[in-house]
Amino acid sequence: MTIGILREPAFETRVSLLPEATATLTKRGITVFTEQAAGEKAFSSDEEYIKFGAQIRSRDEVIQAADIILSIHPPADGTINSKILIGIYQPLFAAPVMYEFAQRRNTLFSLDMLPRTTRAQSMDVLSSQSNIAGYKAVLHASNIYSRYFPMFMTAAGSIAPAKVLILGAGVAGLQAIATAKRLGAVVEVFDTRPAVKEEVMSLGAKFVEVEGAADASKAGGYAVEQTEEFLQKQKARIAESIAKADIVITTAQIPGKKAPLLVTEEMIVQMRKGSVIIDIAAATGGNTAFTKNNETIVKDGITIVGNSALAASMPSDASKLYGKNVLNFLQLIISKEGNLNLNWEDDLVKGSCITHNGEIVHELVKALMS
Ligand code: NAD
Repeated sequence: MTIGILREPAFETRVSLLPEATATLTKRGITVFTEQAAGEKAFSSDEEYIKFGAQIRSRDEVIQAADIILSIHPPADGTINSKILIGIYQPLFAAPVMYEFAQRRNTLFSLDMLPRTTRAQSMDVLSSQSNIAGYKAVLHASNIYSRYFPMFMTAAGSIAPAKVLILGAGVAGLQAIATAKRLGAVVEVFDTRPAVKEEVMSLGAKFVEVEGAADASKAGGYAVEQTEEFLQKQKARIAESIAKADIVITTAQIPGKKAPLLVTEEMIVQMRKGSVIIDIAAATGGNTAFTKNNETIVKDGITIVGNSALAASMPSDASKLYGKNVLNFLQLIISKEGNLNLNWEDDLVKGSCITHNGEIVHELVKALMS
């Protein structure tokens, strides 16, 4: 069995497996081929990969020889046939790309589609990467913000604590709450899932409830789309909180759908000058009226950062955690003897498989194509 690690596209800093992690595979007799300079931006040299038992090869050689190819983003080579691929391919936003992989008879596993069950937690790439995003969102905001986060009472006068508003208390939102609280801010939180209220409060933040949210109990823990009536009611309530907020971190997402627009133009222009918005949902449309993905905009003294790739700003830790997720997933599909063992009865194997046997096999992605 040979596993290949590809170098990611130019905009990415992370790598699927760091050198230390490859040792787990080579110790089991699995050959690991790493593309030249694959770990460079995550501060891991080719020499380190060699030290831990991997072999450095050209991209073509990796693609040719590997039974399993690891790459965070879908490889755009167009030359990959009859391989197993593992990454974060966002198939609900890239169904035609998935179709191409299917046509080339690749078996593709997208770890962002793993069911969010207890057994899947150790492979949950959305959690490991969102956790970083929530942490970095607050640090990034604190850097741009021209005032203090904590409260100070000094001989030179008093400083009030920063008011942070967090929209969406999933993995990123909860980490953003914890980080903002550690910096001494006062935190308010909105989410449509009442289940998160206790977690929010246990982190020391205020949970703002808006009644009438759509029932998401059958959506595997995710949010569902809300009625226009609810969104209007929610916006009115958010407007009250935003008028007092210095920092807004927006993380609200609905799998496979455009992110809900929660912060309108009118709300933003009413904010105090110098305030900062970090929109983590930027890649799926953003939660604010001004969000532009991968751009920072200043509107009437308010800075709006659209960045869904904050995990990539910590490439070393992000790759370490991602790699551990991947190793845990590999254990599901490789036997103790080091052979491929695809158990289609396993809900995690089935749930994350997008293409197999020349077809798109994931029901949600299939539905998108038809
Ligand atoms: P996400 O990134 O899909 O969304 C972020 C948050 O935005 C969610 O909390 C969502 O409820 C919220 N949201 C959506 N629309 C909103 C709106 N209109 N207004 C306000 N908030 C809105 O979420 P995620 O971090 O991927 O977590 C999704 C679920 O998965 C959660 O229930 C989480 O607890 C669960 N989870 C399970 C596991 C596991 O057991 N393996 C691991 C991590 C997360």
